[in-house]
Amino acid sequence: MDVVSTITAIRDKRRGIMGSVGFIPTMGALHDGHLALVREAKRNDTVVIVSIFVNQPQFDSQQDFARYPRDLKRDLELLEREKIDFVFVPPCEEIYPAGFNTWVEVKQISKELEGRARPGHFCGVATIVTKLFNIIQPTRAYFGQKDAQQVLVISKMVTDLNIDVEIIVVPTLREADGLAMSSRNLLLNARERQAASILYRALTVARQMHNRGTVDSAEIRNAMISCLKQEPLVTIEYVEITTADTLDELPIIDRTALVSLAVRIGSVRLIDNILLYPPK
Ligand code: AMP
Repeated sequence: MDVVSTITAIRDKRRGIMGSVGFIPTMGALHDGHLALVREAKRNDTVVIVSIFVNQPQFDSQQDFARYPRDLKRDLELLEREKIDFVFVPPCEEIYPAGFNTWVEVKQISKELEGRARPGHFCGVATIVTKLFNIIQPTRAYFGQKDAQQVLVISKMVTDLNIDVEIIVVPTLREADGLAMSSRNLLLNARERQAASILYRALTVARQMHNRGTVDSAEIRNAMISCLKQEPLVTIEYVEITTADTLDELPIIDRTALVSLAVRIGSVRLIDNILLYPPK
């Protein structure tokens, strides 16, 4: 496994690759959710490149950025075990040199859900992903359904800017109690970690009601909020039921719906989502 930290070096390696390139952008602190993306890429592509870069512009605050979990040694051990070909680990100044001043903004869809809670977040995401796509020129890039809105923002950006890459979406990997795997779970203490299982329980409430024929979003949303309120450590940021492609309001579930939520548990912000499909 080749660990590369400069843009010049990874471009050199890229030029030498015959066949397809699968690319997985990450912020490190890798877990099995990331490895699910890696394994899907290994199945599809000749060569797999993973990037590890904690992208400051997508964080809301310096404090959140500073305490984001980092463990490069362990990340590299995990990727070595997966037989990854190249890992791109650029220092911050390689990506954002002094004077950097160009930003990618995907309008509208970036303003919903996470965008409302975290203005500027998706501009940071779209900018780093554009830069990484330009540097690596992958055939396919892999993203997790865990960050459903991120998938929509990146897909729109790829279409609008004619970027020649196929976006592959991988289902959310969960812990035994249903909690979506996330690097941020490492920031939870034992009691908070226990409380965090309520997110998936609330999403399960939505799925069960929908399976039983409830199509009224307000009814489902209220039941989810009641479920979340059973856990005193949880502060709700949002619970939304929207169309899955444009994130428009969906008062009656008459097509595929995205049920998404964001909560705070202590000082840790967690998000999760599921898709509800119309009956066949
Ligand atoms: P991150 O390091 O959090 O930026 O995540 C890198 C990629 O891994 C993103 O495409 C995420 O959506 C994806 N990812 C994170 N957690 C999971 C998970 N539990 N299941 C599937 N994909 C995930």
